[in-house]
Amino acid sequence: MFKKTALILATVLIFTYAVVLGGCKKDENNRTTYEIDVSLSENHLVGSQTVNYYNDTDTTVKELKFNLFGNAFRKGAKYSPISPAHLSLSYPNGINYGGMAVQDVNSNGQSLEFEISGEDANILTVNLGEEIFPEERVVVSIDFTLDLANVVARTGINAHTINLANFYPILCARGEQGFYECVYYSNGDPFYSDCADYTVKITLDKNFVVASSGKLCSSIEKGELTTKTYKIDNARSFAFVCSKLFKSITKTVDEVEITYYYYDDLTPDKSLEYAVKSIDFFSERFGKYCYDHFSVVQTEFVQGGMEFPALVMISDDLEDKAYGEVIVHETAHQWWQTAVGNNEIEYGFLDEGLTEYSVVLFYENNPEYGMTREYMVKSAQDTYKVFCSVSDKVFGKVNTVMMRSLKDFNGEYEYVNIAYIKPCIMYDCLRESIGDAKFFKGLQKYYKEFKFKNATPYDLVGIYEKTGADSNGFFESFFDGKVIL
Ligand SMILES: [Zn+2]
Repeated sequence: MFKKTALILATVLIFTYAVVLGGCKKDENNRTTYEIDVSLSENHLVGSQTVNYYNDTDTTVKELKFNLFGNAFRKGAKYSPISPAHLSLSYPNGINYGGMAVQDVNSNGQSLEFEISGEDANILTVNLGEEIFPEERVVVSIDFTLDLANVVARTGINAHTINLANFYPILCARGEQGFYECVYYSNGDPFYSDCADYTVKITLDKNFVVASSGKLCSSIEKGELTTKTYKIDNARSFAFVCSKLFKSITKTVDEVEITYYYYDDLTPDKSLEYAVKSIDFFSERFGKYCYDHFSVVQTEFVQGGMEFPALVMISDDLEDKAYGEVIVHETAHQWWQTAVGNNEIEYGFLDEGLTEYSVVLFYENNPEYGMTREYMVKSAQDTYKVFCSVSDKVFGKVNTVMMRSLKDFNGEYEYVNIAYIKPCIMYDCLRESIGDAKFFKGLQKYYKEFKFKNATPYDLVGIYEKTGADSNGFFESFFDGKVIL
């Protein structure tokens, strides 16, 4: 995500016929697959999904756990996705509610026991009734519904657009401790998932234009409805945004089709160019972009922007320079979060910090935008110093520990400074200390080794140690808050 409060850089300057497009090929990889079929009518979505789960761990599985993020918008939720500070902006027509429900779970026609569990009715636990051994598969089908609140958020219906991230039950990431459950914290991006292959069929009013994480395989119109089928492999989730107002422009660069969807932009070519240059530059600097399509989507969104596989949401409520900077930031997330994933609850700084520093690299490499590395790093340092001073005066202490969970942050201001700005400074210090050659070699190695996997901060440290940089003490001093900036 791009927090507006993290604008450290720009604010300072600042029918029936069918069209079949190539067809959907079936991949036989050792990955979990989702086949999702949803119908959208006004604010109500009816869905069914078949998950072919592949046990890629070395332990057996007796149950599957799915996140029901859409349920956090229900009345009485313990954890609201909207922070108190954003209530009026997020609910322009007053507070209202949505929710998610599961009607049936079965495996090859045999009903399975399931329960809505978790700390905040946020988890669907499915009892498989048998053990699934390592390298074995199990097929589970789920019928569900999602009611959309009128809320400016990752999932919500508004005047111009309908944002549909987290619209289906998403498998929790599975680690040594089993499936990782996370509630919907309003701070940060409370997401952690493994990569899977998706085929998603969406039926809706034919007047909607759809921007999605997937590549369009077919589009069939029948009466007033259209059914579009999309596919994307190796994705942590699938999101889409639809609008009857969308216009779009597309540019293909190095076999990547980049499309910008917008409804309020006098210079759409300029906006698209930010994405084109970002994909081009980050591919050259870190390693080739991991999909063959990418959608930049202007939408109603309270925070600056939000990243999803092959799709980014950009808030329509940003000034020019900030708008461009947010496009660069969200595009950089395609490397850091979408490709190289991480537990964003425990290590939010891992992707956000590197993404922020990627923005610095972008502007450094594109001087025509008038921002230098020195200027941006100095701005970050100044912002961080003000944070330390303010925290000291208000709370009598400053907690600069980066290695802590989302729940342990004292609000957005602290989170932005510790998870975005401080690590951004950290990467510049690292680069100064080990030189450009080792610094970039490390990032390229990190991308290559952890693409489509989940990394931890220790993995990043390990990568730099392998490059010959004596960096362990360096990272530790930042992670545990000992370093004085
Ligand atoms: Zn971000």
